[in-house]
Amino acid sequence: MSFDVNTISPPRGGFVGGCYEPMTGAPFELRSPSAPHIVFEERSASQEDIDRCVSLASGAVKSSGWAACGPRDRARILHRWADLVDARLEEIAILEALVGSRPYHEATERDVRVVAMALRQFAAYAETHESAVTATPHHQLSYTRDMPYGVVAAIAPWNFPLILSAWKFAPALAAGNAVVLKPSELTPFSILRVAELGIEAGLPKGLFNILPGAGGTGAALVRHPGIDTVSFTGSTVTGAKVMAEAAAHGLKPVSLELGGKGAQLVFADARDPDHVADLIVRGITYNSGQVCFAGSRLVVQAAIRDRLLSLVEQRMNGLVEGPTWQKVSLPPIINATQLARIEAIVQTATDQGAELLCGGEPIADAQGRSFFQPTILQSSDTDNAAYREEIFGPVLLLDTFESFEEGIAKANHPEFGLAASVYTSNLDTALAAADQLDSGTVWINHWGRAADMTSPFGGVRRSGFGKDMGRAGYQKYLKTKSVWVERAVP
Ligand code: NAD
Repeated sequence: MSFDVNTISPPRGGFVGGCYEPMTGAPFELRSPSAPHIVFEERSASQEDIDRCVSLASGAVKSSGWAACGPRDRARILHRWADLVDARLEEIAILEALVGSRPYHEATERDVRVVAMALRQFAAYAETHESAVTATPHHQLSYTRDMPYGVVAAIAPWNFPLILSAWKFAPALAAGNAVVLKPSELTPFSILRVAELGIEAGLPKGLFNILPGAGGTGAALVRHPGIDTVSFTGSTVTGAKVMAEAAAHGLKPVSLELGGKGAQLVFADARDPDHVADLIVRGITYNSGQVCFAGSRLVVQAAIRDRLLSLVEQRMNGLVEGPTWQKVSLPPIINATQLARIEAIVQTATDQGAELLCGGEPIADAQGRSFFQPTILQSSDTDNAAYREEIFGPVLLLDTFESFEEGIAKANHPEFGLAASVYTSNLDTALAAADQLDSGTVWINHWGRAADMTSPFGGVRRSGFGKDMGRAGYQKYLKTKSVWVERAVP
């Protein structure tokens, strides 16, 4: 299962009003981390491109009848679109693996399928959505109607370009909105092809648009008066800027899916330590640790620390780095800036007293690709850089605890709260930990999101607010209107 990177010619530019369009803003270069000799010359959306796109989206949502039509009519198109995505699975997976960090084999097994699943799931939510009639005296009637916002700006990061875009555009469209998506400037290609398939499925032109570009394009989109709500996934620092811009320009509602510093809390009675070690390693090395909900802190009960550590190290030693078109377990780090950042944090962490137990070095291969060794640092210092910073690389911070209370205190992070895992064979311990971990998601004897759309996902505190997925991830694209009727009862 592979592809020849030199033969792929991806769709380019933006997708506006149902067609591919060249952009007219500043040029930028895009390099594949798996094939650094390949450089794509792209252009960002200019202010005129953004104005035109938002105006087309706003016109389309009214003229197409998308908001007003029966949810079943929208659902029919979304189902057809999902079937087309499934049918083009390999082609889309290649575009995903061409410039990002997602291995082709994982993109075919998961990422592209998740796009189709999201379209189907949110079609189902649209068809089954209900509003309320509230309790009033007989001569009055009060009911709520959930109305689409209009035009949604969706801004996505590079680490799971397809999945994280689908978490936004599928529910926003299903709810009756138009969408202007700005993918990461590092990974714009795969989603363009998905958008084209939407038109083939019968989606009215102008409802789903894509504007390429970096942060400036994202900021201009957030500020645009034609944008009614903003759905953002990215770093905590950028999320704060998005919130400030949205507040300053129309007090638009925002939802923010941001960074994490997730704990893997392992009690000594955890069943099957081999399986736990598999999940710990997957939790910090999947996508080379470039995962918002990475289990980047291993908080383990002292009695099993040595045994678990040895199982984790064994597995880390067996990981294989390589380009995204090979069946690798450690794909490339996305770019030189991110690699330098990982290196710098590891260096600062050891300077500040963290003990380096394994790894700690970048790996460069003859083709100029960059990887980072699976790394374990040990420290109990909550001022250490490896504790405070989201590293976004395969770097695990180890700490130990004795009592349940100490374990919970160490697993809870003062700033981040996106996802955490707890491993124990005692159901009471597991449920008490799930209650006390201050995190948007808690996995029990597990790490990682199932490819399932029903469970909402989102963080607390500096990990953001608002949910993607689940009914909450559908409802956020609707505004609730209360209608109050004074009836003349004969
Ligand atoms: P980033 O914040 O640098 O960029 C995210 C997106 O925002 C990109 O499209 C970027 O071009 C755009 N952007 C940058 N500056 C902007 C601005 N001022 N206004 C509007 N848009 C702007 O993040 P990244 O490096 O692409 O992604 C990695 C980060 O995303 C990590 O912190 C990770 O934890 C987070 N993330 C969170 C989730 C989640 O569900 N919580 C999922 C994946 C990634």
